[in-house]
Amino acid sequence: MDRQTKIRQVWDSFIYCMSLSWKSSKFYTVMQLLTMICAALAPVLMTCNTKEILDLPGSVHTENAAEQLILRIGMQFLLAMVQLVAAKAGSYAAVMQQSILMHNVELDMARTALEMELEYFDNSRYYDAFEAVKRDIYSVPGAVFNGISVISVGISVCSCAILLGMVSPLYTGMVLAASIPAAFSEHTYTKKIYLWGLEHIREERKMQYLYRTTTERAYAQEIRLYGTGQYLLDKYQRLWDMYFSEKRTVARARALWNLGLSALPESLSAAAMVHIGIKIIHGERTIGDFILYSGLLTQLIAGLGNLVSAVMELYEKKLKLNHFSEFQAMAKEKKKNGTKKLESPVTIEFRNVSFRYPDTEQYVLKDISFCLQQGKKLCMVGENGAGKTTILKLLMRFYEPQEGLILINDIPIGEYDRESLYQAFSCFFQKACNYAFHLQENVRISQIGYDEETAKKRQEEALRKAGADTLLKKLKNGTQTYLSRAYSEDGIELSGGQNQKIALARMFYRDAPVLVLDEPTADLDPQGEHELFHTLAEECRETSILFVSHRLANVFLADEILVMEDGHILARGRHEDLLQDCVLYRRLFHYQADKYRRRGEYENSSNR
Ligand code: ADP
Repeated sequence: MDRQTKIRQVWDSFIYCMSLSWKSSKFYTVMQLLTMICAALAPVLMTCNTKEILDLPGSVHTENAAEQLILRIGMQFLLAMVQLVAAKAGSYAAVMQQSILMHNVELDMARTALEMELEYFDNSRYYDAFEAVKRDIYSVPGAVFNGISVISVGISVCSCAILLGMVSPLYTGMVLAASIPAAFSEHTYTKKIYLWGLEHIREERKMQYLYRTTTERAYAQEIRLYGTGQYLLDKYQRLWDMYFSEKRTVARARALWNLGLSALPESLSAAAMVHIGIKIIHGERTIGDFILYSGLLTQLIAGLGNLVSAVMELYEKKLKLNHFSEFQAMAKEKKKNGTKKLESPVTIEFRNVSFRYPDTEQYVLKDISFCLQQGKKLCMVGENGAGKTTILKLLMRFYEPQEGLILINDIPIGEYDRESLYQAFSCFFQKACNYAFHLQENVRISQIGYDEETAKKRQEEALRKAGADTLLKKLKNGTQTYLSRAYSEDGIELSGGQNQKIALARMFYRDAPVLVLDEPTADLDPQGEHELFHTLAEECRETSILFVSHRLANVFLADEILVMEDGHILARGRHEDLLQDCVLYRRLFHYQADKYRRRGEYENSSNR
């Protein structure tokens, strides 16, 4: 990249940061700018004033001396006060503005995450980028602050350089020139360290994951039971040691180069002081001049260092901001959407669908074809990993099949507007995931917008259908019970089966013509399981249902059962036919039937 492009980039970053700042708060932007300008000018003016104070004895008549001295010291005090107020007010404005900015970028990030295709969460490459962006957004407020501080440091450097240039253009030019190599080295290492950080984001993620396993509730039981805490910490430590030693190498090189190159202007400044000192000895300069030169030189060198750091930080943060905007654009671009509105799905058809997950070699679905007519029930059974859940994910358009078509009312689902497509479905996913909200909110969140009367009616009905009404009766705060103890003292923790019932209630609450259920009874007790299938059979006659179940004794409600094996449909038909014709189905059924029979015999014998 040539120098002009780099300068242009820094300029662009500056403009970008200033516009972000302006958009987030005009008041705090102006406040920061004013305070920073005052903070930059005050020390320069104070140095000039000090020279005047020192030179007073030789330059004024004795009768005016006291008056002049008081005036100058008064000015010094005033400037010191300006500097103090500017520093305090500036940091107040910076804190306020950073909070607003952080809030804005987090909102932006949340919106971006909501726009992302589901496959982003599966693919480690996308996930790396996602994590990098999540991390980088925290640099946005800093970048804006940098943008503003570049102005103040710039003003300070310019005023010092102009004043110094008026008395000694040679030294000013030499100090300015001597600062260039340090700026180059800073630039090179800024970029190097940023790219190094990007390359190592996966290690960082792995470390964060290990950290989370030791601190989060999900793993707490197992870690204690198996005593794996130290094992996980050691793993974390090994990763950290490798990560840190590499990071240290790059950071050390940066520090050494900067140290060496920053010594150059300092040496020139020392030479200049010697030169002025000699002139003072020869009576050509005053002590006041010495204080003025040394003060301005020190401020110029420090200012140049700060300017280089501020500009480089701006450059680094712009790299991160670029990353953020590229990711936002990518998330939006990826989102495929059709335009057709889906009114009511009469038929859902998979036609010769084959699919492999993005960036994987192996097909997990091969030539899948089936059709679900309105009001019919279709069940998928088969061993783990056969591809049942994947079929549901494709129907929800979380992924696109590589081959074949998925049609609703004979139109490929890709042509439908997603919102209208999703409006047709209500789903229960395998890992029932409730929200740390009130029970009522957990149920109602699947369909926002009902009037209170309808919402109340649907909620009661949904809880009853899901078999959660008995649970509700036991709750002191009823539907206002908070479903987590992590955020509320009188919140509760639900059992696996109870959790599942609330998630099922959420599914029933939404008024959708198609229900999709993935293993809805995995955590339910036998009575809950029986009641749910009974509800689905008796109370959802008009609703099309596509479900996955391992409880073969309950698939009686299905009009058609697909027996899946290794990504393809091995057999299809009704329960009785499959029992006769399909060896796998018969085997799966008998495993369970035997278990139930043995359990029944055991219960009978213990009742006797
Ligand atoms: P089932 O629901 O029948 O148990 P799935 O549809 O969940 O099976 O999985 C089918 C196959 O797809 C499995 O081999 C599984 O490992 C693989 N699979 C599932 N999800 C992903 C994913 N996100 N990325 C890659 N492979 C996946």
